[in-house]
Parts: sequence; C-alpha cells; structure tokens
Amino acid sequence: MADKDITRRTPGEVGAPGQPGYTPLIPQKKGLARALDPVAGFGVTISSFFKPTVTEQYPFEKVPPKPRYHGRHQLNRHPDGLEKCIGCELCAWACPADAIYVEGADNTPEAQYSPGERYGRVYQINYLRCIFCGLCIEACPTRALTMTNEYELAGPTRRGMIYEKQDLLAPLGEGMLAAPHPMVPGTEDDDYYRGAVTGPVPEQIEWVAQHRPDDPSLEALRAREGAPAEKGRAR
Ligand code: SF4
Ligand code: SF4
Repeated sequence: MADKDITRRTPGEVGAPGQPGYTPLIPQKKGLARALDPVAGFGVTISSFFKPTVTEQYPFEKVPPKPRYHGRHQLNRHPDGLEKCIGCELCAWACPADAIYVEGADNTPEAQYSPGERYGRVYQINYLRCIFCGLCIEACPTRALTMTNEYELAGPTRRGMIYEKQDLLAPLGEGMLAAPHPMVPGTEDDDYYRGAVTGPVPEQIEWVAQHRPDDPSLEALRAREGAPAEKGRAR
C-alpha cells in the first residue's frame, strides 16, 4: 500500500490529498480538539451574546465616519482660488472602475483656471461605478483630488449620479478669488506646488475687478476687514 500511487485511482476521479509520505504544514488536531472542530466556528457567535448591542439610528442620528473615510471626491483649490487640477487625466487612467472622465484644455491669458499651461475643462466621476478605492487620489500629482467624508451619495436617477466638475469643486475658502484670473505675478506653477502662494494679491484682485466686476468672491474679498493686498505675495 505504501508505494501505491493514490493520487488518481480511476480515470476522472479527483486526486487524493497528497502523495504517500506527505506531511501537512498545519499540525493535525487530535482527541477532544478534533472532536470540537465542527462547532469551533460558533465561538464568535457565542462570544457576541455577551457584548452590548449597538444599533445606529441612521438616518435620524448620523454617526461621523472615521477621519480617513473614503467618501465623495473633491477638487481642491490653491489659496488664491486657482484650481489645482491640471487636466492630466492620471486619475482617470488609475481608476480600476473607469469611473472618471477628464478633458483638459489650455489656460489662456484671458482665462487662467490653474497654474501652468493646462486645466481640467471637463471633470466627471460616475458614482454608479466608483468603488471608493482611492487609487485616483494617489495618482494625482498636484493633490487636486482628495476624498471627503461625505457618504450620502444615493440619487433617484442614473444621470444624477454622474458628478460634474461644479459638483466636485471645493467651495471658495475665505479670502479666495474665483477663477479664472492670472497667476500671482512673478510666480511659476512650481511656486504654487511649494506653497509659496498664500492668497490673492492686488494685481489679481484688480484683474477680476476689470473683467468680472460683479463677481461675488470679489465682493466678499472687499468686504473683509483689512487690506487683502498685504496678503498672499509669493516668496
Ligand atoms: S475611488 Fe477608485 S473607483 Fe472611485 S473614482 Fe477613484 S479610482 Fe475610480
Ligand atoms: S485630478 Fe489630479 S490626476 Fe486628475 S486630471 Fe486633475 S490633476 Fe490630473
């Protein structure tokens, strides 16, 4: 028996666990431990009997998720209000679910949306596809794309679950000037990435005042106490 090949006894039969002399790496249980094996899985169930029951009353009481929870995406801005997205599409290429669609376009002197040459003209995320894995935010070279803690993303229509750029763009922070507007004079895109720009400068405010005198962000900036001109000069 010892030298008989037991791996395949008859044609079509599934092979036996191993060749003669095979030693399993996992130690085999014996005696009582082996007899209790079939009910060992109930250990977790039985131990749960003695733990307190926690029932979250969602949606009446909303428990905040953990700080690093992967929720809805956000397209961030630089401190002067220019957009961080440069339309490079790396996030779309990294997405395993093909949930992101990006179309980049050239910035022009009349319409500068982000530092450098390019900006994201079209930006869409299809939340019917997204699995919230976060690979897109890892791929983004400018930290334009991050994820918020917002998790209530249900909607009544398929079209409504495709978020457009305006749905994803971060709201203007205090002291920011809505894009488009020129970069801080004398800076390059590298200065923005290094954090050298901390807010809009008078030249940018003046540009917006000339081209969009009714812009709400301009009004908010003017309404702030102090002179914004003293803030934000790069370097
Ligand atoms: S979180 Fe994952 S699935 Fe969702 S858009 Fe980003 S890469 Fe795609
Ligand atoms: S979000 Fe980031 S990775 Fe995606 S297109 Fe914009 S800059 Fe590129």
